[in-house]
Amino acid sequence: MKQQVLVLPGDGIGPEVTRCALQVLNKVIAGSELDLTMVEGAIGGSGYDQYGDPFPEPTRALLPTTRAVLFGAVGGPQWDTLERRFRPEQGLLGIRAAMGVFANLRPAILYPQLAAASALKPEIVSGLDILILRELIGGIYFGSPRGIETLASGERRGVNTLVYTESEIKRIAHMGFRIAQQRKGRLCSVDKANVLECSELWRDVVTQIGKEYPTVELSHLYVDNAAMQLIRDPKQFDVMLTSNLFGDILSDAASMLTGSIGMLPSASLNQDNVGMYEPIHGSAPDIAGQNKANPLAMILSVAMMLRHSFERNDLALQIENAIGTVLDEGLRTPDIAPAGTKAVGTVAMGQAVLDALI
Ligand code: NAD
Repeated sequence: MKQQVLVLPGDGIGPEVTRCALQVLNKVIAGSELDLTMVEGAIGGSGYDQYGDPFPEPTRALLPTTRAVLFGAVGGPQWDTLERRFRPEQGLLGIRAAMGVFANLRPAILYPQLAAASALKPEIVSGLDILILRELIGGIYFGSPRGIETLASGERRGVNTLVYTESEIKRIAHMGFRIAQQRKGRLCSVDKANVLECSELWRDVVTQIGKEYPTVELSHLYVDNAAMQLIRDPKQFDVMLTSNLFGDILSDAASMLTGSIGMLPSASLNQDNVGMYEPIHGSAPDIAGQNKANPLAMILSVAMMLRHSFERNDLALQIENAIGTVLDEGLRTPDIAPAGTKAVGTVAMGQAVLDALI
């Protein structure tokens, strides 16, 4: 059965890294019995330039028939002065909402070859492979009431509401346990149950759901301790499951353990594993059009897409192994090259991954 991939290259380095990723995707699916149709759409600043809308109707209209979205990056200084609703980031938020992607998967993987690029000591991070699963469309970022009000005294008061329903916790917990089953079988749920009732419910529901997954070893940590452990001994973790706010912070901390923003992919999934796959970096206007961008985060996003939306772990592994080979050979884009060493460009790095695919 033919399945549709919607390709949204976006702005800045987005189109450059997307081009490499599509070449890899096309090569890896050739002869694999996975029948994909790639359609391209406009989003972000280029969506605005073309249609006057960062999430244009022709792109929106492709979603109902789409199984996976490959998203480059959006944004750039030329659109920063537009009225907020026309800015590129609205395209990103708009498509996430339209797809109902409630689960954000952010792996933090440090290839042993790049251990020196991390801010931490190589022995602490070498071989790191953890996954942070963040609830993406609930919690304090969306709860109401919210706002800034002026009290009778004239003083202003800011309000946000931390709220999760049992069903919201259940669906992200199930996803966490299923992902842990496919990895090393360990799930650490992060909350603040000693202080917050909402976290108390979170812990209770996660514990209940855990009984359905006896092969997964479940643990719980308070978020302050989790932040400390992530820096002290990150390799103790396999999957970390957490809410929107805590996940936002912990996943950024985890990404820095690996040293380069150009190496990290992400996935956002809905209930049916329809997903949006994107590198965690932005459109990098400072290096756009200069053949300097590292395409590996985008190529790794393709691997995540094959694994999570198309259940082809075998093809995902082919890509990840090819990247390992290229790094073994010593190829480095400027962001991951040690100071004073020679780096390769975006196109050469993409070609090297293509050549390393077997
Ligand atoms: P950024 O991630 O684009 O860049 C931060 C730094 O990392 C820059 O120095 C950049 O050159 C470097 N970098 C990023 N990706 C790289 C890669 N693949 N290879 C090598 N170096 C890389 O973040 P920023 O500068 O804060 O934002 C730039 C624009 O991107 C803004 O308009 C912002 O709103 C947007 N943005 C978009 C997304 C997204 O589309 N998901 C995410 C973050 C930022």
